[in-house]
Amino acid sequence: MARRRQLYEGKAKILFEGPEPGTLVQYFKDEATALGGQRKGIITGKGVLNNRISEYLMVKLAEIGIPTHFVRRLNMREQLIREVEIIPVEIVVRNVAAGGLSARLGIAEGTRLPRSIIEYYYKNEALSNPLVSEEHITCFGWAVPQDMDDIVALTLRINDFLSGLFLGVGITLIDFKIEFGRLWENDEMRIVLADEISPDNCRLWDSKTNEKMDKDRFRRDLGRVEEAYQEVARRLGILPEAGVRDMKGPEVMQ
Ligand code: UDP
Repeated sequence: MARRRQLYEGKAKILFEGPEPGTLVQYFKDEATALGGQRKGIITGKGVLNNRISEYLMVKLAEIGIPTHFVRRLNMREQLIREVEIIPVEIVVRNVAAGGLSARLGIAEGTRLPRSIIEYYYKNEALSNPLVSEEHITCFGWAVPQDMDDIVALTLRINDFLSGLFLGVGITLIDFKIEFGRLWENDEMRIVLADEISPDNCRLWDSKTNEKMDKDRFRRDLGRVEEAYQEVARRLGILPEAGVRDMKGPEVMQ
């Protein structure tokens, strides 16, 4: 197969030049990092599962009219996406207190919030992705007020839809992080959902037992990490047919 140009390597994904202009190939790795990079490890099969889970959720969201960067899955670890200009803000939605919110404000993990909260973090690793307000975002030009209106409207719909979808399979969507990008078509710009939606960037708790089924199992060294990711895929009805023993998938080509 032809060698492809690697454009970017992140902690969990690699982006390659796509087969045609305006497209990229997003490759999902098994590597995981936590605690600002202090903890590193491999979650075997994570890349395969996240590729599939993110595909499934983005396709479902597209069906209710949420524009996304997703085009199609190419193989076990890769998907074709539209090239977008990433807005350097991580959007976090919280339905139940956990993680950073609980630590910062002293609210017990598991406390249902009276209403969903949207938070923004400036995507800047050197600054450890600081919490910012809409004022910072528009003041420093990371996004304009119209972008933010679109982002908030899309984010609320995404939260409602995903909360219901997960609840249907016995999972509570505690919180999640998403990213948006600008997609240019001729002279028109659209804000679209980008990056990925997977147990790497969602908190997913079993609705009955509150057992954690997401990356917190890795972050907090709770064990049974692979099993948790598989269980999310299994409940969504999308475990790869080959099963979990055969999930190595194609190797990265440099
Ligand atoms: N999150 C993420 N990437 C980050 C920080 C957070 O995907 O760099 C997700 C995380 O998985 C959780 C939500 O955003 O679902 C809220 O995370 P929080 O702010 O509580 O931070 P954490 O406790 O993970 O440091």
